[in-house]
Amino acid sequence: MTVNRDTFMVRDFNYDLQMAGRQPVQWLESERAAYDLVPTHCCFCGVQCGMNIRVSEGRVVGVEPRDFPHNRGALCPKGVVAYQQADHPERLLYPLLRRGGKEGRLERASWDDALDYVAERWQRLQAEHGKDSIAVYSGSSMTNEKCYLAGKFGRVALGTRHVDYNGRLCMSAAAGAYTKAFGIDRSPLPLPDYALADCILAIGTNLGECFPVAMQWVWQARDRGATFIVVDPRETPAARTADLWLPVRPGTDAALLNCMLRQVIHDGLVDEAYVRDRTTGWEAVKAAVEAYTPERVEPITGVPAERLVTAARLYGRAATSLILHARGIEHSTHGVNNCLAAINLALARGQPGRPGGGVTMLTGQGNGQGGREMGQKANQLPGYRGISNPEDRRHVAAVWGIDEAELPGEGAAAPEIIGLMARGEVRSCLVLCSNLMVSLPDNGFVRRALSGLEPLVVIDFFMSETAELADAVLPGTVWLEDEGTTTNLEGRVIKINKA
Ligand code: SF4
Repeated sequence: MTVNRDTFMVRDFNYDLQMAGRQPVQWLESERAAYDLVPTHCCFCGVQCGMNIRVSEGRVVGVEPRDFPHNRGALCPKGVVAYQQADHPERLLYPLLRRGGKEGRLERASWDDALDYVAERWQRLQAEHGKDSIAVYSGSSMTNEKCYLAGKFGRVALGTRHVDYNGRLCMSAAAGAYTKAFGIDRSPLPLPDYALADCILAIGTNLGECFPVAMQWVWQARDRGATFIVVDPRETPAARTADLWLPVRPGTDAALLNCMLRQVIHDGLVDEAYVRDRTTGWEAVKAAVEAYTPERVEPITGVPAERLVTAARLYGRAATSLILHARGIEHSTHGVNNCLAAINLALARGQPGRPGGGVTMLTGQGNGQGGREMGQKANQLPGYRGISNPEDRRHVAAVWGIDEAELPGEGAAAPEIIGLMARGEVRSCLVLCSNLMVSLPDNGFVRRALSGLEPLVVIDFFMSETAELADAVLPGTVWLEDEGTTTNLEGRVIKINKA
């Protein structure tokens, strides 16, 4: 057998170390694998990098760069191997049913048997205990269309109000803050615009490791001379290379940001016209941050006072400044306030709306932005429509062809659904695209809650820790098999193509 680039990448080939140092064998046309390239996007995080998937004889065999505007051909290590999901030997390929009760084993079943099993139990359960005895708990690493259907299925087919998603665990604080400040749960900012910033303040985000593809735009800004400030309790790779690192004590980010805002005010760096024309409540904010002197904030945050002042001046004197934040400030009992403190700072400098400037949340999950816009949240119908707003309810009910009275009201949020399970109020759950046993805190409590359901129905493409507890496991498709759209962290709606 001769070895060339295609056979090495595509076929089962044990590389022989004795080959090392020899002249590479020339490519032979007859050895080349014929393949098509399908343009699509990686689903593994909110960046949603463009990529070309290699397809040969109906099978996904590899990936190639794609020059899409926000990733410019780059992929992180996760994206490079993501295509291997399609043909992974551990893929779930047929339904499984637990026979013989909770102590029984999951066994292969036909689709008809599996669907009958679930439908019969759900009908019986709802007849005896009401529609809200079933919950739908989904993730949003799926297309917008699937996310939309998850919410619609729960509210129309099952008629339950308990519909929520795993974004509740990560993005909800940022969503709440942006809705409060801007009236919309979005912070649209094209990644290439990062390169236009003169100062980038990254807070609560391990940008270099979690968003390496986005990092290229930060490097471009720095190549132009931009200042890079990192606020993080840990010395992350980004912190190590920053111009200024503020090792903040966990949970004290709002004090740090308020201190920076106070310094910006005292240094006369507020964009007064912007604040006057485009904001409300400025005097109250100004009064609130006055108490956050550097000397007072130093013992709170653990950051030396002079470093706080330096950070405020570097940020405040930059013509175009950008704040990037992620779960580090959002995963908190006061996550909304942390995000609002960042937003206040950006507004005081008149940055939101300026190319390369502003404040933006770095959405982590694949389609985290689109999922919540498509009606996966307990309090939201598709298109940010409020489930308690009569006009919004009428509109969505008409689109779905049901009476408004049939549309359930607001249900429990994801963590509360687990509590309802533990109390026996929710007796069955459809879990899709989420591994609750790994992503939720208090693993023992979650296990007990899930184990009490009858049935627990899980749609997944691998036998996850949650699927192992299920009574019915239904195999789902992976992103490479789907056609649809997603919405990335920039707010860009992108097309997902079936490979
Ligand atoms: S940065 Fe995100 S979308 Fe891009 S390749 Fe990596 S995991 Fe995939």
